Amino acid sequence: MTATEDLPMIPAARPIIGDEERAAVDRVMRSGMVAQGPEVAAFESEFAQVLVGGRECVAVNSGTSGLHLGLLAAGIGAGDEVIVPSFTFAATANAVALTGATPVFADISPDTFNLDPGSVRAAITERTAAVMPVHLYGHPADMDGLGAVASEHGLALFEDAAQAHGASYHGSPVGSFGVFAMFSLYPTKNMTSGEGGMVACADEDIARGVRLLRNQGMERQYANEVIGLNNRMTDIHAAIGRVQLTKVWGWTETRRANAAWLDEALGDVVVVPPVREGCTHVYHQYTIRIEGASAAERDRVVTALREEHKVGCGVYYPTPNHELVSLARFAPAHELPETARAAAEVISLPVHPSLSQGDLERVAAAVHAVVGAGA
Ligand SMILES: *Cc1c(COP(=O)(O)O)cnc(C)c1O
Repeated sequence: MTATEDLPMIPAARPIIGDEERAAVDRVMRSGMVAQGPEVAAFESEFAQVLVGGRECVAVNSGTSGLHLGLLAAGIGAGDEVIVPSFTFAATANAVALTGATPVFADISPDTFNLDPGSVRAAITERTAAVMPVHLYGHPADMDGLGAVASEHGLALFEDAAQAHGASYHGSPVGSFGVFAMFSLYPTKNMTSGEGGMVACADEDIARGVRLLRNQGMERQYANEVIGLNNRMTDIHAAIGRVQLTKVWGWTETRRANAAWLDEALGDVVVVPPVREGCTHVYHQYTIRIEGASAAERDRVVTALREEHKVGCGVYYPTPNHELVSLARFAPAHELPETARAAAEVISLPVHPSLSQGDLERVAAAVHAVVGAGA
């Protein structure tokens, strides 16, 4: 085998931005109108058709803004509690806290890494207004289980679908369950607009609310109806997103094929990501567990994969949200054992559509060499 120093690093993620995206940007630049305009409107209606079964969509400047405005439009604010996972990117709870509401952290199910309906039920108080699951890594959350808890207790359901473009749950796309759902368009997500977010809305009131809030509370210029922000998407970003939208299904098929190959190759040495019955997984991340590992043992595997084998990989996420300096004041009084275990055991391997067969073989060989050797 070649010395690993000679091998190129296999990146953990690789945004694909090609000639069509460049031409689309150029077209908008030449038009002389670059801020929110016709490209954004077209992107919204195309996204609605391609990914969320025609639900009304509103584009914003980031996924985080999408969560923030969706929550505000749904009436979430001071005095409310919103139940969220702690095992996610901090943007989920940040958006709740930024509205003045309190994020309440519940535990996850160990197979899908997603919010556990039983743990959600136990976290409900008289202040609970909503539950916001994350479809983590591209696997849908348990929408039947969470929907049942929400309707029993009269709670709203929101979706953080930042990582799950095109995933589906019993035949319905993620993003079609909640009062609103947010998709991130950050470069490492399954599709990108440079930066951006899309909010899929259950009804016209929510959609109108998000439209007002992203634009200083104005539908008509200088007739401000509510206190809003400037969270608009530009036509430049929307033009990139429109091109990506024509490719996301093809890329998703490649992600799934890569994941299926890795499942076969790695199932005997690590816990590969299970897919629940009735769910389609879009593998934003391909996340394995080093079962029983401490965080330090897992980190040694990550270092060996990166440094000895030049396999880019990531830990999403090493610190549960309720242990972050920024969010610790919202930590629950009890432990979240599955969250703690996942934070110590997970490693996400490259699964993106730019991998060659040779890359996949290198990833598998590296995991066998490092984990098989009992690192
Ligand atoms: C990426 C991400 C966000 C935030 O999206 P941005 O577009 O980066 O603002 C929120 N939640 C989750 C789970 C994410 O992965």
